[in-house]
Amino acid sequence: MRACSAYESMIMSMRSCRHWFALLSAVLTSIAAHAATRPNVVFIMTDDHAAHALSAYGSRVNETPNLDRIAREGMRFTHAFAVNSICTPSRATLLTGKYSHLNGVPVFNRFDGSQPTVAKYLQAAGYHTGMVGKWHLGSDPTGFDHWIILPGQGDYMDPAFLTPSGRKVIPGYVSDIITDLSIEFLKQRPTNRPFFLMSHHKAPHRPWEPHPKHRAQFAGRTIPEPATLRDDYATRTDALHENRQRVFDDLTRRDLKLEPPADLQGPARAQWLNAIPRVVETTVDGRSQTLTGEALNAWKYQRYMQDYLACVQSVDDNVGRLLDWLSTHGLAENTVVIYTSDQGFFLGDHGLYDKRFMYEPSLRMPLLVRWPGQIRPGSVEGSLVINPDFAPTFMDLAGLAVPDDMQGRSLVPLFRGSAPSDWRTSLYYRYYHDPGHHNTRAHYGVRTRTHKLIHYWKKDQWELFDLVTDPDELRNLYSDPAQQETVSRLKSELQRLKREFKDDDQFAHEQPGGPGVDGPFPDKAAPR
Ligand code: CA
Repeated sequence: MRACSAYESMIMSMRSCRHWFALLSAVLTSIAAHAATRPNVVFIMTDDHAAHALSAYGSRVNETPNLDRIAREGMRFTHAFAVNSICTPSRATLLTGKYSHLNGVPVFNRFDGSQPTVAKYLQAAGYHTGMVGKWHLGSDPTGFDHWIILPGQGDYMDPAFLTPSGRKVIPGYVSDIITDLSIEFLKQRPTNRPFFLMSHHKAPHRPWEPHPKHRAQFAGRTIPEPATLRDDYATRTDALHENRQRVFDDLTRRDLKLEPPADLQGPARAQWLNAIPRVVETTVDGRSQTLTGEALNAWKYQRYMQDYLACVQSVDDNVGRLLDWLSTHGLAENTVVIYTSDQGFFLGDHGLYDKRFMYEPSLRMPLLVRWPGQIRPGSVEGSLVINPDFAPTFMDLAGLAVPDDMQGRSLVPLFRGSAPSDWRTSLYYRYYHDPGHHNTRAHYGVRTRTHKLIHYWKKDQWELFDLVTDPDELRNLYSDPAQQETVSRLKSELQRLKREFKDDDQFAHEQPGGPGVDGPFPDKAAPR
């Protein structure tokens, strides 16, 4: 091959430069044209808000008019699920679009913020990015132009916040403050760029401490009991029998907001608050009563739900406030508003509070999306959606290609009412935090539109539920001879999903430790 002369090289270089300038110019023009239309994204996520505590989902226990407004003006997803139903893993999945075994957060361990995240991709593409509220990932946020987060779980009243420049306490109630800070982010944003805001609430997470006005709203209200509150766990495996997240047997005096004797101080006071009451002196209908047994159980459910629902109400009020702000500032039209929770929650279902299990109340997330002009108002979407889908969705909304290593799929075609013909017909779930804070057995499983198969792998015990004939998941059919073909088919599907999602069991035998020792976290990070 003939070597180029210096002159020829110079000419080629100039041609190459011209070529690249032309190409770059075309790309920039294209980006600029697209940037003008790229939608803003406001992603509102609560902590532990079960779908069955939203009236848009047919709640029997409360009314959420502001959240319902998103459903009315947008789309309600009926089958949205978390793939590892606890707080920190859900947040890592949200940012990465990956299952826990690939993002390195199977339990309450620290998130490695040096890995690619959707916030970084959007920031690099010109979005002004903000993270406000509960973060709970043990490391500082990365990929955000602005962040202000609760340390660990954070407090309900007068909470402290962490920022790049240090820690500050903001007086007031946490849901109000997170909304104020979210609006402040919007006010301060550069108006020549689209924005991506993650507004993450603490409420209604334990210890369920309502704002006084909402506490008053729910005080004395009688909440209907769920049909499975007194589930006897017949036919189910050891996992349900061994778990320690039962309304009747595991809620503490602190959870139930019982007042310790005035003379009790220091460790003795803490011990009193952390104990589980078997007798409660209280006032019912103006008369002092001693509650025990079944009467106490019923009272515990009411106390739990009154506080939980009062915390939900603070979120509902504040979502309304944020929606109003977007409307009055001309931002409603070109902003995608998404409302969800980091997972579901048991509202006395199966006698439980908390989450973790692959049963429906815990697995299912509320998911409401408003996008004027793109989503038909009042639409309902039933496709199987998982939380690894969020990151690819944000990429798609920003006009970016979804990276190959993200494991979810963009929901944008679903928003537009046209689910792809090859959309998933089953989903994979895996929970690791065993024994964790509630003595919950590790498990993985598959859910289809009609069935659920769960494997508690450390015990090698299985559960099979027919979701059509037994939506409350009360009859484990795993040993039923008539179900063996279904068992076999679902086991094959489970293995296929494990391969598809590259789950090589790397965290299968790790011991996350007992209560409060879940890794290198500040003490407030571990759930109480
Ligand atoms: Ca949570």
